[in-house]
Amino acid sequence: MTSQVPASILARGDAEDDGGRTKAAHFVFVPLREQGHLIPAVDTALLLATHGALCTIVAPPSTAVLVRRTVESTQRTRLPVRLVEFPLDYFESGLPEGADDGDRVPHRYMWNYYHAMALLRAPIESYLRAHAPYPTCIVSDFVHPWTTELAANLGVPRLSFFSMCAFGLLCQHNLERFHAYDGVKDSNEPVVVPGLERRFVVTRAQAPGFFRGIPIPWWEEFADYVERARAEADGVIVNTFLELEPEYVAGYAAAREMKVWTVGPVSTYHHSRTTLASTLASRGLRASAVDPDECLRWLDGKEPRSVVYVSFGSIAQADPKQVVELGLGLEASGHPFVWAVKDTADEYDETVREFLRELEARVGAGRCLLIRGWAPQLLILSHDAVGAFVTHCGWNSTLEAIAAGLPMVTWPHFSDQFLNEKMVVEVLGTGVSVGVKEPLTFQAVKKEILVGRDVVEEAVRSVMGDGEEAEERRRRARALAAKAAAAALVGGSSHANLQDLVNRFAPGPGTARGAAA
Ligand code: UDP
Repeated sequence: MTSQVPASILARGDAEDDGGRTKAAHFVFVPLREQGHLIPAVDTALLLATHGALCTIVAPPSTAVLVRRTVESTQRTRLPVRLVEFPLDYFESGLPEGADDGDRVPHRYMWNYYHAMALLRAPIESYLRAHAPYPTCIVSDFVHPWTTELAANLGVPRLSFFSMCAFGLLCQHNLERFHAYDGVKDSNEPVVVPGLERRFVVTRAQAPGFFRGIPIPWWEEFADYVERARAEADGVIVNTFLELEPEYVAGYAAAREMKVWTVGPVSTYHHSRTTLASTLASRGLRASAVDPDECLRWLDGKEPRSVVYVSFGSIAQADPKQVVELGLGLEASGHPFVWAVKDTADEYDETVREFLRELEARVGAGRCLLIRGWAPQLLILSHDAVGAFVTHCGWNSTLEAIAAGLPMVTWPHFSDQFLNEKMVVEVLGTGVSVGVKEPLTFQAVKKEILVGRDVVEEAVRSVMGDGEEAEERRRRARALAAKAAAAALVGGSSHANLQDLVNRFAPGPGTARGAAA
């Protein structure tokens, strides 16, 4: 076990006093390895530290390596953030040694991986008891239900962390608590989300619930365990902002009967300081697949709002045929584009690679920039040259686009992405859907679903176009960005919620559970 941040980072004196008691709140973050969970959790820890809290992030080495650069960059600003590594017990969990060392834990080992994470409870607890200052709150990714026991043993409250919109959380919660799928045989049958004022229609295939619908019994048991831990949490931290979805934030807090702290967009942490492009580009991974300065120079040469950025996040990967249709659609749209083409799992054969090389040659380096691997997404989205985002609707990507004031072409692949698409298209009115209705990734039965080149072209032309509708979409997107920026500033809702967390979970009589009341 090693602490990656030297004790000197705590020298500000705001974290410790005599006897190892802490004067400031001390949040212990237990994130999940997936970038869509890890990146926002780390950003939230950094934000809480700017409000005076000490934050300790605990993680296995294969996770810590993904965020070490970001955390170490805080040393320059002397933020009290620690990154502490806990090796996984491969043998006990049945996880093949090093199975978590690549960019992804292979899907077939996910169960063993969750088990290995749960086995970290005892070493984390011993570490926290032995290393002052004593924690005042556990902030757990919602997929780690075992942190209930960790917090109870330590006698401190536990908050669930979500990087999801409150709209999605509430829809999913209502679908489950009102048993909306009871008697529904076909997973593609439309179902109205119960308990909401407005009418939203989903299918079980689009919103099955976390870890639900996997035809293996222990996942269903795990889903129940996760749900119990969510229901027993002392509160919820969500990467969204109040002004984006006030009725759904209030609705979720009421439905769960717990306090909800909206603290987003947490990516604004990076905008508020002079972070190096290279550090920002490696946010969430070891390194960017493109030189970030080169990428910025490419964008600098483009007209404002003229470029389309395309990415399906850290997990989803377009099938080979889809790569071809997407590429041809982007080419036909006539707009310059930056396309983050993932090819990490050697998914693409030489035919696809050849197609991509030919596309680059035909369209020309001046009009297309292909990034084969991890893209410096935050740098790209916040550049003036970018005018729209073709996205898989992962919530982090969605919120980063909202913060950048961009309209979106929505192309959900799995999990909460279908609900996020509804949020963008039906609630916020800033997106155009490509019309995907069923999961494209993690399909129970493999099924080819192809979005044609003409659909891609049409959707891109529609968000980038000059018409009244496109202009109205852009106006709404700009207004949301202004609200997002205001939420993060002093006096804004997210800023105030961060401060409230730091105040409430400072040590004192209220900290030992119940502080969230
Ligand atoms: N991301 C990035 N570069 C990439 C792909 C993803 O920086 O090439 C970041 C992106 O900015 C976001 C996160 O990884 O913060 C992805 O989270 P999201 O919820 O959008 O999707 P997921 O990867 O979980 O499907």
